Amino acid sequence: SIFRHARFETSFAKPNALPDSSEPEIAFVGRSNAGKSSAINTLVGHNRLAFVSKTPGRTQLINFFRLPSGVALVDLPGFGYAQVPEPIRRQWQDLLEKYLTRRPNVIGLIHIMDSRHPLTHLDRQLLDWFTPSGRPVHILLTKSDKLTRGPAAQTLMDVRRELAQWGPAVTAQLFSSLKKTGMEETERVVTNWLES
Ligand code: GDP
Repeated sequence: SIFRHARFETSFAKPNALPDSSEPEIAFVGRSNAGKSSAINTLVGHNRLAFVSKTPGRTQLINFFRLPSGVALVDLPGFGYAQVPEPIRRQWQDLLEKYLTRRPNVIGLIHIMDSRHPLTHLDRQLLDWFTPSGRPVHILLTKSDKLTRGPAAQTLMDVRRELAQWGPAVTAQLFSSLKKTGMEETERVVTNWLES
């Protein structure tokens, strides 16, 4: 897997603190509790590289994981946790927007959504921020093990139809960290990003 041998590098509390880098970055975003940490751990083949939260919305850090190739996997803070006070929530959105719109070496976004609740208001907001750059977004509809085959396929079709409004650079697939399904498809997509 192209994600193997990722190592934790460093964390940042503010996007302004990020040093400029010319190494390609693949950013992971998602609503809090959507399954982002689990998906990262599954892709890198590591049980606890990204911290799976017991308290949703607690981590507000940007975590950097480095692959041997030099590519960085960037774990952005989960957003949309309802219990968080409004000023803090706004701060998170600000952080995400700054990272997504002002970081030229981000080559693509892996956007994690719970397959039972895809494309929430904040997910759409995020697509609005990032897609004008023309860079690709690949959506993992995760926890797909919680759906039976028919509804899962239907969800994927519905989401893909909706995604057309953000253009052809936004793609989607089913994923399950529990069943470890969908990893090869994600690897193929990201390999294409790195080669183009
Ligand atoms: P994050 O807040 O987006 O990083 O989400 P986590 O990775 O911490 O996961 C949130 C909760 O969903 C945890 O209880 C996980 O065990 C669970 N979860 C994550 N991925 C899956 C999955 O693919 N299938 C199932 N059934 N549960 C999952």
